[in-house]
Amino acid sequence: MKIVAIRETTLDMAEATRNAAVGFGRMTASVAVVEVETTAGHRVRGYAIDSPGRYASGAVLRERLAPRVLAADPAAYLDASGTLPDPWKIRALAMRDEKPGGHGERAAAMGLLDGAIWDLIGKLQDKPLWAVLRGPKLGTPQVPVYATCGFYRGEDDLEKLRDELERAVDLGFDTVKIKGGAIDLDADRKRIDAALEYLGGKAKLALDCNATMTLNDARLFLSAIADLPIAWVEEPVDPLDYDAHRALAAEFAVPLGTGENLYSAADARNLLRHGGLRPERDLLQFDIGLGHGLVEYLRIVAEAEDAGWLRENFVPHVGYRFALQVAAGLGLGRHEVGPFQRIAYRPAMAGACALPGDAPGIGWEADPAFASLFAALDR
Ligand code: MG
Repeated sequence: MKIVAIRETTLDMAEATRNAAVGFGRMTASVAVVEVETTAGHRVRGYAIDSPGRYASGAVLRERLAPRVLAADPAAYLDASGTLPDPWKIRALAMRDEKPGGHGERAAAMGLLDGAIWDLIGKLQDKPLWAVLRGPKLGTPQVPVYATCGFYRGEDDLEKLRDELERAVDLGFDTVKIKGGAIDLDADRKRIDAALEYLGGKAKLALDCNATMTLNDARLFLSAIADLPIAWVEEPVDPLDYDAHRALAAEFAVPLGTGENLYSAADARNLLRHGGLRPERDLLQFDIGLGHGLVEYLRIVAEAEDAGWLRENFVPHVGYRFALQVAAGLGLGRHEVGPFQRIAYRPAMAGACALPGDAPGIGWEADPAFASLFAALDR
């Protein structure tokens, strides 16, 4: 087996919305394909796509990571059987001559390559990725999900919020998340009260502050909502300010979620060492694809387990079907779904759980929201 092509293209992900920190008016994302030729002469393709809310990282993939892999002897990246790519070897090969630290867009580019390789590993064994990760003789797992909605929309914000929350409940979600912390406290409290009223007790409400507040503002915000039934508050402060996390965890009972903007095992280690987070209630939201891929994620999970965390604490940032497969395969706590975003991601559901399905690999081609996005790469 030999890797014969690695291609990437940039998708326009622009939306007329804001989260608590940034506008989505110029957002992009990368989609990538890794194509292999088997020893029997068959061509097989593995696909990957970035989570939303960031920007494409194609230059790093095209100019640095992909050429190292394409120039290598296949023996340098195949597993012991010689029939499957080894994602740990590919990680080491692609990241050769890259200094440790500084985990920016390089982490996302590496995650694209890694994600496409895991898609291939499933396809080459004719198994869904969750079954590769879980091993044989296990039934199809169901993964608890939540719906991300309630972005700030300016005009008619509350009407649009109500429409989304009601549709999310109709789709079967028992937990939804909206944005919080971006507008003045009184206005935000009114918006959160309205969301709870619209949900009418049919789903729990979480709040995502997108790391936009100072520690003092976060204290004011958390105090202002302390009487409300909030499932968790996400990224109240800067993701790298571990002291601030520790202070909030000590002062407020509400569960905290964070980690989607930490892109390496080293950063995750520091969060767990110094952030004061509580395994009995808090959420670890590292993004699998944006953070170097599943090889890195498995390291983070193993280290966190050694530190007393459970897999149920892991709720990866979006990741679409890749994160769903990993959550199903590893038994993670919950999967984030954005049913009303630019890519209207709506996995098959049973009650309030998503079903990863039995399509080989990640199953992108079986999902109409993604099949067409990868068509531009298939030339
Ligand atoms: Mg978030």
